[in-house]
Amino acid sequence: MPQVSSNKTASSRDIGIDLGTANTLVYARGHGIVLNEPSVVAVRAGTSTALAVGTEAKETIGRTPGSITAIRPLKDGVICDYEAAEEMIRHFVRKAVPGRRSRTRMVVCVPSGVTPVERRAIVHASTRAGARAVHLIEEPMAAAIGAGLPVSEARGSMVVDIGGGTTEVAVISLGGIVTSQSLRVGGDRLDAAISAYVRQEHGLLIGERTAEDVKVAIGSAWPVPDRPELETRTFTVRGRERVGGMPRTLELSAAAVRSALDEPVEAVIAAVRSTLEECPPELSGDVMEHGIVLTGGGALLPGLDLRMASATGIPVFVADDPLDCVALGSGRCVEDLDALGGLLAPARA
Ligand code: ADP
Ligand code: MG
Repeated sequence: MPQVSSNKTASSRDIGIDLGTANTLVYARGHGIVLNEPSVVAVRAGTSTALAVGTEAKETIGRTPGSITAIRPLKDGVICDYEAAEEMIRHFVRKAVPGRRSRTRMVVCVPSGVTPVERRAIVHASTRAGARAVHLIEEPMAAAIGAGLPVSEARGSMVVDIGGGTTEVAVISLGGIVTSQSLRVGGDRLDAAISAYVRQEHGLLIGERTAEDVKVAIGSAWPVPDRPELETRTFTVRGRERVGGMPRTLELSAAAVRSALDEPVEAVIAAVRSTLEECPPELSGDVMEHGIVLTGGGALLPGLDLRMASATGIPVFVADDPLDCVALGSGRCVEDLDALGGLLAPARA
C-alpha cells in the first residue's frame, strides 16, 4: 500500500513529550523513548541565555558560581519560567529529532490542573521548537495508558501519578477523566521535608540534591515485610552547620527519614481519599475491585503502596517502570495519531 508507506515517512518524526517537573522524556514514533533528561536549564544570571540543558545542567545545581543559575522551568507543575521552558523544549526536540522538524507533530502531556493560559504557553513553546501540529493530552490519562489500564472501557480506573512537583490523582472511564485532583505535593516536597528535619533536629543545612539522595537511598513510607533490610539502612550526609557554617557530617536512620516524610505522604493519601469520595459510586466500586495504580517517580518510595492500601482499604499496585508511564502513554497516542484523527484535535497557541 503506497499510501501507507508515504504516510509513514511523513509522520516518522512524530514525537510524544512528557514535560515533567523533574524529568522530560521524549518518545519518537517507531523508536520508543529516545530521550530522558532532568528538566533543568542552566542560564547566566539575569539573562535567558541557556548555558546547558538537561543532564549537564542538573550537575550544576547547588554548585554554580553566582553568575550561573540552574532553573527548573516547571518547578510546581506549571511553567514558572517561560523563556527557560521554551529553551528546554527546543533543545530536547532538536536532540530527539535531528534534521528538519517542519513535519514533526507533537503530543505533549500537561498536568490536569493547567490553566488555558498555561496550555497556550506550552503549545506556543512547542510550535516555536518546530512542531507542525501540537496535541495536548492530560498527564493522568497518559499515565493510565502507559500503565496499561483499560482506559476506554466502561470501568473506573484510578491512577495516582506522583512526580517531582505535583501528584495527579484521577479516575478514568470510557476514555475520559471523570474526576481528578492535582496537588502541589510530590518528590520535591519529600526532599524539602528531609532538609527541614535535618535543619530543625540537627541544626545542619543540606542542599536539595543531598536531600533527594537521602530519600532515594533510605526513604520509605511504611515497613515492607518482604524487605526487612530497609529498616536498618543509614545514610551519611554532609552539610553546613546552621550556626557557624562549618562543614559537618551526620548519619541518618531509615526510621528518622520515614518520620520526616510523614506529612507529605499523608497529603498524597488524603488526596486519594477525597478523589474517591467525589467519584460516582459505580466507578469507586470498580476501583475497590481492581485497585489503584501508582506511576511517576514517587511510586518508587518503598511502602507507599502498602500504606495507601491500609489507609483506603483498596489494593494498590505500582506500575511497571513508573517513571516511563506518561511518556509511553503519549507514545501510544503518537503511534495512533492518524487513527485518532479528530479525536485529538491540534491545540492552538
Ligand atoms: P516529573 O513527572 O514531575 O518529572 P517523575 O515522575 O520523573 O517526575 O519523578 C521524579 C521524582 O521521583 C523526583 O522527585 C525523584 O526524587 C523521585 N524518585 C525517583 N526515584 C525515586 C525512588 N527510588 N524513591 C523515591 N522517589 C524517587
Ligand atoms: Mg510526570
